[in-house]
Amino acid sequence: MIHLENVHKTYPGLVPLHVLKGIDLHINKGEFVSIMGASGSGKSTLLNILGILDTYDEGKYFLNDVLIKNLSEKRAAEFRNKMIGFIFQSFNLITFKNAVENVALPLFYQGISRKKRNALALEYLDRLGLKGWAHHMPNEMSGGQKQRVAIARALITQPQILLADEPTGALDSKTSIEVMEILKELHEQGQTIVVVTHESGVAHQTEKIIHIQDGLIKNIEENTLQSNSPFSMDGYIK
Ligand code: ADP
Ligand code: MG
Repeated sequence: MIHLENVHKTYPGLVPLHVLKGIDLHINKGEFVSIMGASGSGKSTLLNILGILDTYDEGKYFLNDVLIKNLSEKRAAEFRNKMIGFIFQSFNLITFKNAVENVALPLFYQGISRKKRNALALEYLDRLGLKGWAHHMPNEMSGGQKQRVAIARALITQPQILLADEPTGALDSKTSIEVMEILKELHEQGQTIVVVTHESGVAHQTEKIIHIQDGLIKNIEENTLQSNSPFSMDGYIK
């Protein structure tokens, strides 16, 4: 599904910063992997390239056998909307929209009617344990609830890949476990997931840990999973 060959990325500037120095990476459909490394090691840069939020300078990135390179902004946005769901440490909810409006937003860009958008958004909120919270604003919700809204919003387009950049970074440990359990449940339903983290405890909730150091993949660690998720995502994953 994801295939990278010798991908390099340099941030230009007075002192150009060579962040990715030849990344080779292969992620299959249905895998649940984490990219782990110290702060500043290039994890977010790599995830943003995978999510077509950023470009790279050298090498090749194939997404479902399509070469993702030199795309127009319009093509890139089309791919993102069709293929990718993204969640972030800071949730990135729209503060002046309520939960259901936030979740429904990606469907607006797909030209789906307001009625259908809202009905589907309510279903996703319900699945993520947020029944009754649809009309609350983000600032009325806890961190864990906000991240669940963000996950619902990422899933509503049925993305082929869910990318998560430090999804538990702003959460306490109990809520972090809850969010990782949701991701695990999604993985069991067949969702392909890539999580970026600097926390070993989070990485060990995934089935494969890709260690990144100084812009290169240092090693790949296989990990066995156990699950006991309280959420039911049956039928929600393509
Ligand atoms: P990580 O997510 O592993 O902490 P990042 O990918 O965010 O690392 O950043 C890697 C390096 O690139 C850091 O030194 C960071 O300061 C730098 N960097 C990140 N984004 C930019 C940017 N847009 N412009 C210039 N430098 C950047
Ligand atoms: Mg980062």
